[in-house]
Amino acid sequence: MDCLFCKIIKREIPADIVYEDDEVLAFNDINPQAPTHILIIPKTHIATLNDIEEPDLAMIGRLQYTAAQLARERGFAEDGYRVVMNCNEMGGQTVYHIHMHLMGGREFTWPAG
Ligand code: AMP
Ligand code: ZN
Repeated sequence: MDCLFCKIIKREIPADIVYEDDEVLAFNDINPQAPTHILIIPKTHIATLNDIEEPDLAMIGRLQYTAAQLARERGFAEDGYRVVMNCNEMGGQTVYHIHMHLMGGREFTWPAG
């Protein structure tokens, strides 16, 4: 399958991997928007948030849990951070394999752009 993030999972494309377990992989974003900008992805291919089904719910929780763990490890959990999942074109999604953005190390404004 011609999916960039599946290729990263299969090590066909290099990435700066910061965490991995049976279900998820986390790596530094190639175009960081904050001092820490990590993408957390499931190891199974799911194109968009709209494609999530009931059996995927534990995995989605694991993405979120991994984000919080990485924030803690990097020391900005208490100060605060931003977690984002973009869905489809109007939501700003550019890679069609779901991913959670974890951004930290600076202050974020609201509403997001
Ligand atoms: P989104 O726009 O929400 O789909 O996010 C896709 C993210 O993937 C962007 O923040 C890109 O900078 C990032 N990205 C694209 N290609 C790579 C890559 N090869 N390695 C790491 N991050 C990437
Ligand atoms: Zn994929």
